[in-house]
Amino acid sequence: MDFIPYGKQEILQEDIDSVVSVLKSPFITQGPKVLEFEEKVAKYVHAKYAISTNSATSALHIACLALGLKKGDFLWTSPISFVASSNCGVYCDAKVDFIDINSKTYNIDIDYLESKLKKTKKHKLPKVIVAVHFAGQSCDMEALYKLSLRYGFKIIEDASHALGGRYRGDKIGGCRYSDISIFSFHPVKPITTGEGGIATTNNQALAKKMQILRSHGITKNIEEFDNPKKDSPWYYEQQILGFNYRLNDISASLGISQLERLDSYTYKRNKIAEKYNKKLEHLEVITPFVTSYNYSAYHLYPILLTKNSEISRKKLVKKFLDSKIGVQIHYIPIHLQPFYARFGFKKGDFKEAEKYYKHTISLPIFPSLSDDEQDRVIKILEQCVAKK
Ligand SMILES: *Cc1c(COP(=O)(O)O)cnc(C)c1O
Repeated sequence: MDFIPYGKQEILQEDIDSVVSVLKSPFITQGPKVLEFEEKVAKYVHAKYAISTNSATSALHIACLALGLKKGDFLWTSPISFVASSNCGVYCDAKVDFIDINSKTYNIDIDYLESKLKKTKKHKLPKVIVAVHFAGQSCDMEALYKLSLRYGFKIIEDASHALGGRYRGDKIGGCRYSDISIFSFHPVKPITTGEGGIATTNNQALAKKMQILRSHGITKNIEEFDNPKKDSPWYYEQQILGFNYRLNDISASLGISQLERLDSYTYKRNKIAEKYNKKLEHLEVITPFVTSYNYSAYHLYPILLTKNSEISRKKLVKKFLDSKIGVQIHYIPIHLQPFYARFGFKKGDFKEAEKYYKHTISLPIFPSLSDDEQDRVIKILEQCVAKK
């Protein structure tokens, strides 16, 4: 029997053709494909600007810098995320803190956030909140936006899981209630460029700042020169300290080809989730809860064991792995990572996050997961978990 991972890319002949055509063209790095990909993603999510990067992690870094995050500032995010969601704050020498999750959606809990904001002294309020759309379901952005107006923080949506999803009818990434949205194109994410990421925004100044930060802090645009008289054809200016965070044309051409199938991918993921929901109904597990105003991109399908499941999480994970099913745990709470202990975080700090972590298992979900493969996953649960 073949190994079933929890998530994987689908590469078709059309993807290969798209990449090969770039390899045969004069430009393999900063050619026309990067721009085309950026335009297509911007159009897809209904944002004015899209700035591609070599990963979502780099996109988060330049998003924080563009918003002016610096030493002494605070960045708050969810403890149930990949470490990149908070590391971006550390890169900028800001102080990181966390917002506990909601026990149903596993996204940041808005009531918890509101009371934490109320309790926090003015000079310690967050400058940036990174809202993680966990598993592909958007956070309650309207409520978060209202709080941002009252408390003056900026919002980055870490939508690494969520390309293709919708919030109150809007495509995630359109930034109606945020400053910047970030997507990842790592192979397990909704679509892939190999490695890659993108930031979307409707704010021209933020877009320009991120563009220059991703490419060494250099501009070749004569209208932006500090020395406007220097109009020699070779002239360029480094104006700030930037990075080489650029995506390349080879990766972008894969992204362009993948983007064509994004809607069908999201549909398939939703169908797989529906089948899990139905087939696991009679078992002692908690299946994901999606609010009525969300259309989830279903990057992940995390289930929770309960005190009635009659099997430990560890045993169940082992059983899956022995059956060649690559379940995963998303995520170890960030505040419990050894690196974060140096900032004073400890066990017990974020109770819902820790409770969730103790019981969760992510089942395989990806567009090419076959019916038979999904049945293999369900069968293990039927064998191991108590019935209701
Ligand atoms: C994958 C992921 C990232 C990082 O993405 P890369 O493209 O691998 O840098 C950041 N945040 C979340 C929530 C992710 O899942």
